[in-house]
Amino acid sequence: MEDTRPGVAYIASLELLKVASRLPSNKNRSALVHTLARNLDLFAGDFSPARRIVLTPPQNATFKELNNYHTKEYLDFVLDPNNGDEKTKAELGLEDDCPTFEGMADYIRLVGGAALTAVSMLREAQCDLAVFWDGGRHHAQKEKAAGFCYVADCTLALMALRRITQPPPSTGPSIKMRTMYLDLDLHFSDGVSHAFHKTSTGSAQLLTFSIHHAAPGFFPVSPLAALPSPDSDPFTLSLPLRLGASNRTFKRAWKCVERVRTAFDPDFVVLQCGVDGLAGDPCAIFNWSLGPEEGSLGWCVSQVVNTWRGKKILLGGGGYNSPNAARAWAYLTSIALGHPLSLDTEIPDHAHFPLYAPSFTLDVPAGNMQDQNSDDYLDTVDSAFESISTILTERLAK
Ligand SMILES: [Zn+2]
Repeated sequence: MEDTRPGVAYIASLELLKVASRLPSNKNRSALVHTLARNLDLFAGDFSPARRIVLTPPQNATFKELNNYHTKEYLDFVLDPNNGDEKTKAELGLEDDCPTFEGMADYIRLVGGAALTAVSMLREAQCDLAVFWDGGRHHAQKEKAAGFCYVADCTLALMALRRITQPPPSTGPSIKMRTMYLDLDLHFSDGVSHAFHKTSTGSAQLLTFSIHHAAPGFFPVSPLAALPSPDSDPFTLSLPLRLGASNRTFKRAWKCVERVRTAFDPDFVVLQCGVDGLAGDPCAIFNWSLGPEEGSLGWCVSQVVNTWRGKKILLGGGGYNSPNAARAWAYLTSIALGHPLSLDTEIPDHAHFPLYAPSFTLDVPAGNMQDQNSDDYLDTVDSAFESISTILTERLAK
């Protein structure tokens, strides 16, 4: 009998797992993520009655495809690291937190290629979701690596989605589809927000929205990381949160997300699911939990997956407690498949099992950190988004 369940493309391959596991900022994380998902039976054809998983290897992006965003100078060097010297490396951001590493060229081709694979999977009628946990590299810039990010896969995916147009109606011009980028990582999505900031002015097609921590000197410093004001670009949105942000704060912040989503009504959503805001991450800035209560990461992702219309791409991002990142992305995969695992689920016995001590369950619970997002502050956030959503609605009506 024909399988009529909608497909969820899970983008991964052994080749990508090997090179992504060499990423200096997240050594071996990719191996943990995909191995846990497989051992929780998420790749089994009968895991979910609602949706079927389609294991999809990433394509290798060509120079030309990467050059759609990255500069030739950057690509000439990173795709053939024999091409430059120390001075070139420094100019291209390949020092400090972004050192060159073995397999870097393959990593860049595969992570960039996966973004394009995700978009081409969404072109298929039977596939309404794509999941790519090795992606979400939101700090990478056009001409340089930054913040542990070497390739701008989010931006490449958004550019590819922007090229999709609806089939033209028999009369009149074709309608361009709208794409919303929503970023849940602890850090501001500077690479992505800057990439579209100028081009999105006056355009009703693409909107970026980053919820993140901001404080003086906190990476990345950007004029775009502040709350929206009446004269800021309503298509480049930012919601900065203070220390200790918990489910309660995210539940309030989510009202702003819904306001914007309702006004913009996207056809495609790219959701960056960085997990460095979860409790237990070495960044230790937020106190967010994995699920399942309102405001948790799992709840936010299930709102997008289950209540928003349109097709979606879920990407990874930061997350420096690798077992917790594996837990989180396995759980989010089960949500994407329409069959959420219980957070009491025991970690199955497998090669990396000892790393899941002491709980050996799927849960990433909140800790004891105090939430410094006061009601007064959240009221300010609320009213800033109320105003900008009105402006957005007016701009879209033009
Ligand atoms: Zn981050």
